[in-house]
Amino acid sequence: MTAHHPTPINTTHHTCPICTANALADGMTICRQCMHAYARQLTLLRQHLTVLQLVIRREVHLRERGGGRGSFAPLGIDVSAADLETEAERLIDGICTVAGLPGGRWQRALPRLGANLHTLAGLPDAADHLEGLIRINGRLERVTDRRPRLRRLVGVCDVCGAMVHAVQGEEWAVCGRCDSLLHLPSVRRAARTRLDALHTTQTPSGAAVWVSRETGIDVTRDDVNNWIRSGRITAPRLENGYREFPILRLIELAESKMDSKRE
Ligand SMILES: [Zn+2]
Ligand SMILES: [Zn+2]
Repeated sequence: MTAHHPTPINTTHHTCPICTANALADGMTICRQCMHAYARQLTLLRQHLTVLQLVIRREVHLRERGGGRGSFAPLGIDVSAADLETEAERLIDGICTVAGLPGGRWQRALPRLGANLHTLAGLPDAADHLEGLIRINGRLERVTDRRPRLRRLVGVCDVCGAMVHAVQGEEWAVCGRCDSLLHLPSVRRAARTRLDALHTTQTPSGAAVWVSRETGIDVTRDDVNNWIRSGRITAPRLENGYREFPILRLIELAESKMDSKRE
């Protein structure tokens, strides 16, 4: 966690500190919706740690085969796998302690947490715990996710303004530039107005490359030229073949291309 927010014992505000949208029920320090998100993060953590075991075993196997430091060194990801497990376990153990539950190995401690959600959602540091879970899950995902998934531009970080990419349906992301934890439904809601004002100066082929990179959807120069010709996008002409493209419209058209392909 980058920022630790001291939580007052007597909460003067009654809005959920995580989503900053919903009201808090009596005795809760996070809202019901975020409590469900908490449960999903616990389930996710269990899945990630299970897969992590395979990664760690691979590490052990490679180490035993004994190529020495030389052959082990390039596997940076494996080196950190065991550390990551230790870190996750420390977080789980910390939550158990505050909640008055026995800690220990994650295989036993995690189901215990899952069975005591209402207690967890009433702890003074519940928001910090949830943030810790989201962050460790984000890091674990990078180690345990074996099939890379399509990340799309979802909006703009409301702290630093960097573009935020995420897998469809994901709830949380950590900003790649400023490390802020971002609640993606809010980022998506704000995206329209934030991105609406943004333009990119490109040639049509430059715009195709740009939007392909931002959306992960294959867009060609011909697509972009078709959009201009048919009036589906308004991109004022500048000098030397450059045009000013509205970012949001480019993304919408790319996504409609993918949707029409799917049908
Ligand atoms: Zn909430
Ligand atoms: Zn940021």
